[in-house]
Amino acid sequence: MNLPFRQASTDKGRGCSDQPTLKERGQHEVFCGLTGIVWLHRKIENAFFLVVGSRTCAHLMQSAAGVMIFAEPRFATAIIDERDLAGLADIDDELDRVVEKLLTRRPDIELLFLVGSCPSEVIKLDLKRAAQRLSQRHMPKVRVLNYSGSGIETTFTQGEDACLAALAADAARGSEQDEEHLVVVGALADVVEDQFRRLFAAMGMTRVAFLPAKRAADMPAIGPKTRYLLAQPFLGDTARIFEDRGARRIPAPFPLGAEGTTAWLKAAANAFGVADELFVSVTEAGYRRALIATTAHREALQGKRIFFFPDSQLELPLARFVSEELGMRLVEVGTPYLHRAHLADELARLPSGTLLSEGQDVDRQLDRCRAEDPDLVICGLGLANPLEAEGFTTKWSIELVFTPIQGYDQAGDLARLFSRPLDRRTRIGGLPCN
Ligand code: SF4
Repeated sequence: MNLPFRQASTDKGRGCSDQPTLKERGQHEVFCGLTGIVWLHRKIENAFFLVVGSRTCAHLMQSAAGVMIFAEPRFATAIIDERDLAGLADIDDELDRVVEKLLTRRPDIELLFLVGSCPSEVIKLDLKRAAQRLSQRHMPKVRVLNYSGSGIETTFTQGEDACLAALAADAARGSEQDEEHLVVVGALADVVEDQFRRLFAAMGMTRVAFLPAKRAADMPAIGPKTRYLLAQPFLGDTARIFEDRGARRIPAPFPLGAEGTTAWLKAAANAFGVADELFVSVTEAGYRRALIATTAHREALQGKRIFFFPDSQLELPLARFVSEELGMRLVEVGTPYLHRAHLADELARLPSGTLLSEGQDVDRQLDRCRAEDPDLVICGLGLANPLEAEGFTTKWSIELVFTPIQGYDQAGDLARLFSRPLDRRTRIGGLPCN
């Protein structure tokens, strides 16, 4: 198999592996962890997310997932009102009543998440205890778990980490007697999950599960015979629970683009003893399709300078993809948190000397961005409009979380997310273009 782009990065040695990061601890602008519900509720078919929060939380959920007005939604907000905040009502009783009503109206629910928020945290509502109490009451039909999506504790992709950590902690315990099996960890769009499942099966890997599973009852057991492969780079807490159960991580870059997807699949194939020839025969067609799909975008983006503000923790894998596979030049790669072990393979593939920043001091970072005057800025919604007004071309980072971008057949779509803003700006003569 011809790997032209990988050649380019390995020539440079260990890329950014040993490079220090610029650490900033100032004001930052990101969504809270409740946002993860927008994609998680679509993933687990018979789950329901009950946010225990304020009207602000309800508004966030409604506007972030507005399309759900057409369907029976799989999330809602139990509002904590002034009486609760003033301690005038027994909030546990009220929560029990809300859950009772919900489960009576929705007998399809088998897994209920109580999701903490800023208000529930401020009044120190013990959702763990509430989840245990409600689980016992509604056993065995409904399992009740809890996690926090509060903006005090979490940025938006950390909501997924907290949710998956709750699922992993609740999963059945595997034992030494189990057969070795693979768990792919991280929510992927169904179309992507199905593609990966087919590729693993064609390599003879049949003991493969995904977390989260599509149905609550199908969550995989986790134990010493579990090898796990992260599909998302923001799952530090979930990974810790896997490790505590004796499961072992398969180190790999993340499955973005032709190169990232091949390296991710290869890491799993090596761990399960798949022969090289079989691996190549299974992946070659997808690899070629991905290369062809990204070629036109590569021509448009080659040499363009890109600046990543910290938002989703996907920034490093994305930066690796745009530099290695699209030929873009990295001005600064910001991330809210840098997990060096989970991102080791991505760091090694970044061009050495790239400015990496962790955390945020938004004004200082804006100054650096203005001084560098990049061709494309990847940032949150709050920064995009002001930067567009100043003449910068931007892309909303949240789109990169909501769009299926992993795997061979999504490589072209992923590349298009970077080329489209530049293309539009050229065509409409400099008007804002997200
Ligand atoms: Fe706002 Fe906090 Fe609710 Fe998120 S959890 S919507 S930050 S109040």
